[in-house]
Amino acid sequence: MPSESPRGLLFVVSAPSATGKTTVVEQLVQVLPALRMSRSYTSRPARVGEEDGLDYNFISRDAFEAMIARDALLEWADVFGNYYGTGRAETQARLDAGEDLVLVIDVQGARQVREKLPDTVAIFMLPPSFEVLEQRLRKRSKDPEAEMVRRLETARREVDAVSTYDYVVVNDLLERCVGELAGIVVAERARLARRCKVIEPIISTFRVRGTE
Ligand code: 5GP
Repeated sequence: MPSESPRGLLFVVSAPSATGKTTVVEQLVQVLPALRMSRSYTSRPARVGEEDGLDYNFISRDAFEAMIARDALLEWADVFGNYYGTGRAETQARLDAGEDLVLVIDVQGARQVREKLPDTVAIFMLPPSFEVLEQRLRKRSKDPEAEMVRRLETARREVDAVSTYDYVVVNDLLERCVGELAGIVVAERARLARRCKVIEPIISTFRVRGTE
């Protein structure tokens, strides 16, 4: 039987902008105990209603570049002209402590994480269609048309990466999508290699005395 790793599980969730991934993952961590959402670093300015240390760790471009230089990021990417990244030390510390962690990051970041940590479970979230994505993007954004077009072009490229992920969910109905994601997390937790500690005492009750 494989030996059990005490480390937590790492999940990444990627989706085109306006698919609703943050809302879905925020609900996911509410329904699943012991699953935490990672907080990224970004050089983009906070939007109205966003809080430093809650939605993101908002830092300057210089501070972000200093983190890149000292290899303090597990992954990072330039998305729509701003830097985004995941802190290496805090991610490592949480996994070492046995916490299951979910990173909501773009496809470039997901690729880097999977190269460094091949056990990562990668989930891609699709909107119901390109048209629905466009409607959602137009509804929520006050960005100029050029920015909208850029996000939609990026979405087309990102969807090309779907075949490199382990799982795919469609965000048509929030509750259904959260349920599917929860199912993936629960199934991954139940893999044999991750259950050894729990099952060993049970299996031992089945052994015939004197043969151990
Ligand atoms: P937003 O500015 O709308 O919050 O996020 C823009 C994009 O950056 C989204 O696709 C989001 O998933 C991605 N993103 C957020 N945090 C990170 C991160 O830590 N690393 C990477 N690579 N992408 C991120």
